[in-house]
Amino acid sequence: MKRRQFLTAGALGALASVAGRSGEATAGDEGTKGNVVRQAVDVPVVERADVVVCGGGPAGVAAAVAAGRSGAKVRLIENQGFLGGVWTASMVNLILDRKNKKKGLVAEILAALAKTGAQRDPGKFDVEAMKFVLENLCLDAGVRPLYLSRVVDAVKDGRRVTHAIVENKSGRQALAAGAFIDATGDGDLAARAGCGFDWGHPVSGKTQPMSMIALLGGIHYKRLNAQRFVRGDGVTSKASKAAFLAELKRAGVTPSYKSPTLFCIREDHFAMMANHQYGASGVNAQQVTDATIAARAEIHRIVDALRRLGGVWRDLQLLATSPQIGVREARRIHGRYTLTGDDLLRGARFDDAVCRASFAVDVHALDPKHAGGSFSNEGVRVIPYDIPLRSLIAKDVDGLLMAGRCISGDFLAHASYRVTGNAVAMGEAAGRTAALAARGGRLPHEVGIDEIRQ
Ligand SMILES: Cc1cc2nc3c(=O)[nH]c(=O)nc-3n(C[C@H](O)[C@H](O)[C@H](O)COP(=O)(O)OP(=O)(O)OC[C@H]3O[C@@H](n4cnc5c(N)ncnc54)[C@H](O)[C@@H]3O)c2cc1C
Repeated sequence: MKRRQFLTAGALGALASVAGRSGEATAGDEGTKGNVVRQAVDVPVVERADVVVCGGGPAGVAAAVAAGRSGAKVRLIENQGFLGGVWTASMVNLILDRKNKKKGLVAEILAALAKTGAQRDPGKFDVEAMKFVLENLCLDAGVRPLYLSRVVDAVKDGRRVTHAIVENKSGRQALAAGAFIDATGDGDLAARAGCGFDWGHPVSGKTQPMSMIALLGGIHYKRLNAQRFVRGDGVTSKASKAAFLAELKRAGVTPSYKSPTLFCIREDHFAMMANHQYGASGVNAQQVTDATIAARAEIHRIVDALRRLGGVWRDLQLLATSPQIGVREARRIHGRYTLTGDDLLRGARFDDAVCRASFAVDVHALDPKHAGGSFSNEGVRVIPYDIPLRSLIAKDVDGLLMAGRCISGDFLAHASYRVTGNAVAMGEAAGRTAALAARGGRLPHEVGIDEIRQ
């Protein structure tokens, strides 16, 4: 039988000091009621992979698949019991910034979704179809997912990250790798490894609000579109939001998001985004819980009020609220380059570009008075810009890349690059870089951009 290896208590003891730093982001925490001292325990090393990807959202799946296809042995750790992140756990079913010559995995995912017949329009999808498409992509690339496992710590040897520690029903487990990718959205692994990060608006420190998506049935596209409540057939997005807001007010509810939207997935299957939860930190468990409870209550109020109106809403059903409230913004981990709003204004080009992004700066109201409770571009007109590989490589530690919304950028840049078409493209680049680094016994910053592009 293979001997199990353990990380000793001594190695883990050193972690306590870096783990505490993530508390900087828990603005509004209620404070502690004292401390208990828990003796450090040995942690079994259950895996030695080339690449460990933490977080199986759009960025993490793309990273794992790209690393797997590059010949690396890959483990993908995911907190939920399925892949997709905001696409599935938060039921946001629209891929933005998916064009822009993004030929790689974005195009593959769109083609695979189209084959399932689970789409009315390209770029929108049925959540269950997405879960299945992503799982198959990973398995075909030789990636081994580990579900229902939360990354809770990192172990370092000097500057180099050597293990990710996870907790799941098996207990605490350590996974060793030649290179790690933090695709948790919130930058959990990087923060635990002691990386510095930025948080929120540069002046107020506020982050974008959270929203919970609801899936609705018992309504029909043609009837809703005829009344302009949903986009399509000559009804613009702006017009549909205004008409739906007026309809909600007629029903006696004023939603906390002032541009409420219905997304048509199939003729009789819709997603609704109608709420903003302000002032909650995505890395504060109690605040996320409170925001979740408030958002779900608001969705029930809205659905009940619409059904009472009768007419097109008579048979309206709330099919599901998202298992995970959608967190737009959390840690922005310090990388070797920090993408800025100025880069967006000048359409920056970089020699180590991994992706061309063009989505607008999309800042959802930071408080109920900001941007009319809706969203704004904060006066920034984006000229399509490059995302450089250096923004994906951690500055404060070695052996760690970021992909997705936790890469290195300022408040305004994040408000544009965070959408999922870009998250996938960043993931692909991070995955290839990590595979080349790990298999060649190098660190990610030692891998040349030409090798990655090949
Ligand atoms: C309400 C809302 C609406 C949006 N609308 C759109 C839209 O219409 N179109 C669009 O393209 N983008 C949209 N976005 C933005 C986009 O969804 C995100 O920025 C994008 O999903 C980022 O991808 P990611 O892979 O970095 O992170 P995520 O999608 O957040 O995925 C992170 C994954 O990591 C897992 N994870 C987190 N922490 C841990 C941990 N400690 N251990 C293990 N696993 C962990 C999570 O479960 C999740 O699966 C929206 C975002 C929100 C919140």
